[in-house]
Amino acid sequence: MPRFDPTEFGRLLARLSPQELRQVEGMVAEARERAEAVLEINARADVGGAAAACPRCGGGERIRWGRTRTGAQRWSCSGCGATWSGRSGTPLARVHRRDLVVALARDMIEAPQPMSCRRAAEVLGTSRHSVWRWRMTIIGALTPEPESTLAGIVEADEAHQRESRKASREWVRHRCDPANTPAPPRLRWEDYRRRGAASRTPPGGWRAWEKKPLAATDRAGHRAVEAIADAGQVAISGALLPVMAPDAVLCTDGHITYEAIAQDERIPHFVFVAGRRSKLTPRSHHINTVNALIGRFRAFMQTFCGPASKNLAAYGRWHAARDNADRSYRDVLRKLLASGHPTNTVC
Ligand SMILES: [Zn+2]
Repeated sequence: MPRFDPTEFGRLLARLSPQELRQVEGMVAEARERAEAVLEINARADVGGAAAACPRCGGGERIRWGRTRTGAQRWSCSGCGATWSGRSGTPLARVHRRDLVVALARDMIEAPQPMSCRRAAEVLGTSRHSVWRWRMTIIGALTPEPESTLAGIVEADEAHQRESRKASREWVRHRCDPANTPAPPRLRWEDYRRRGAASRTPPGGWRAWEKKPLAATDRAGHRAVEAIADAGQVAISGALLPVMAPDAVLCTDGHITYEAIAQDERIPHFVFVAGRRSKLTPRSHHINTVNALIGRFRAFMQTFCGPASKNLAAYGRWHAARDNADRSYRDVLRKLLASGHPTNTVC
């Protein structure tokens, strides 16, 4: 391969037409994605990284052993002779087109509206099943916000999502074997809203089938959206208190649960019933930021047509990662590499 000469390259660029330049821009972006992924992978196997020691015998003595097909540094153990690279033992270990995974991660975090699985499969030139599997692996690797991330004025409220069992086989199994498989506790949602049918409500009312992810935000652009089991004090304080700095103040809609949490933890608490302030509340305190976050979360979720509730925690963290001011797709890539090898239950 000839040596890279920047002057010669610059001269070549100067001769290109606008159309050719656009082509080059696309090629450079693609190469950059590949290079950034290789940098992250190599960083994992650097001294002090998670993959610095031999994965077979745990020995620290190693020598460089060429590069992998994708350009990452390969290492060889001096003790047992095993070879490995920074992506061994990660979800990217057996992925042939990891550049496509990087492109998908970038779209998921940085695009104004992430592509659907089918659209992403078309754009990336791969199967929609691969895209779905990669997507679930990426969002499964997202962890809750670090402790005490939300500082200053913290606003918290619950979002409302209808319970969903998308892709569940419950009804199919029940119809195949009604004697041994009980019927699901409710009909499919579309059966309650069928046009022309008498209006019906699911057992226990609509409210009984709502999932309430907790959304919290501060004024510095940190977000947290966490799925909670119910709107009780234990669940909400379990999700909210770890991410809140101990000296933060809390603004909420005044739900009795938040009152109890604030009283128990001695947190300064400002209440906005239906978003309204009292005369004594400072103008700097409001719950508009969290309401906007919930609005964006609702719009974000709408595009997925009611994803299964078992994935709600993952979708919440995905949206928080997208909305977080100091989060980039490289953080997500780092989390993905640190998350260990995926199990078959991911998809
Ligand atoms: Zn070894």
